[in-house]
Amino acid sequence: MRAMVLEAPGMPLKLAEVPDPVPGPGAVLVRVAACGICRTDIHVVDGELSDPKLPLIPGHQIVGVVAAGGPGASRFRPGDRVGIPWLGGSCGRCRHCRAGRENLCDEARYTGYHLDGGFAEACVADERFCFPVPAGYPDLEAAPLLCAGLIGYRAYRMAVVPGGTGEVRRVGLWGFGASAHLVAQIARHEGREVWAFTRPGDAAAQVFARSQGAAWAGGTGDTPPGELDAAIIFAPAGELVPAALSRVGKGGTVVCAGIHMSDLPSFPYRLLWGERAVRSVANLTRRDGEEFLALAPRIPIRTTVTAWPLEGANEALATLRAGSLTGAAVIRVAGQE
Ligand SMILES: [Zn+2]
Ligand SMILES: [Zn+2]
Repeated sequence: MRAMVLEAPGMPLKLAEVPDPVPGPGAVLVRVAACGICRTDIHVVDGELSDPKLPLIPGHQIVGVVAAGGPGASRFRPGDRVGIPWLGGSCGRCRHCRAGRENLCDEARYTGYHLDGGFAEACVADERFCFPVPAGYPDLEAAPLLCAGLIGYRAYRMAVVPGGTGEVRRVGLWGFGASAHLVAQIARHEGREVWAFTRPGDAAAQVFARSQGAAWAGGTGDTPPGELDAAIIFAPAGELVPAALSRVGKGGTVVCAGIHMSDLPSFPYRLLWGERAVRSVANLTRRDGEEFLALAPRIPIRTTVTAWPLEGANEALATLRAGSLTGAAVIRVAGQE
């Protein structure tokens, strides 16, 4: 099969012909139709996340069709459409796994990082960690739901249900990319107001944010027309933490949604005072996936995507790295235009 392979961090991916993977016990072989690109893929390719499997096929927002099952695999039949997310496996025994927090498992294995992912014509996955894909979404539009949507949803839940002190009417989103454009639609659906903070002067991103329901959109340096109740930071820039805290009212939560962020600058305690909270969100649980993939078609969430062919993965990564993309980037591996 054809695959885009990372041989060493910091190197461009290489188009290679590699053997089809063979599904082991409890795993399925999936013919990949589309695979979304996530900022985490950039962190892996650029070496900001340590110790990836090498050589590695990145990509963890995979939509495809089951071709075969390994020994004992019985959950899906050949022809079933499935989604394969970032969480590829967990130990099932540790205190986190037993408490329904498999996202925190120390032995968790991640797709496109510890396990080969979806920048390829096929991949294998533990069937227990795959999801059925909602029928109304074509492959390309479904792919970004699997991380941008799913982990965005987890971050959103933490922002609006902080176990904290007050109703969250107004949510700020820092970095209006793949995740934010989906989260904005959930927030609007739940009757909350969305304010979008983009790179200074990024008029296109601000127009896009308004088209996705944002009541206000501006640059990170602009002054919004009031105070937020919660904030989610999608951009990997530590300086946005004090910036977001300074816009959130008492009792509000700032959620950092990315797996990697530059160092946080020091900031005065008064920004945190008033029972404000800062927290990260890590990975996903299968329950997040089931909840979110049931919710998405009910809203319905619409994904805005730009597609590249498999061999265009490096260009797609560069476009995302440069921040010059509207919506979500997706690799089209198979299927129609
Ligand atoms: Zn991701
Ligand atoms: Zn565990």
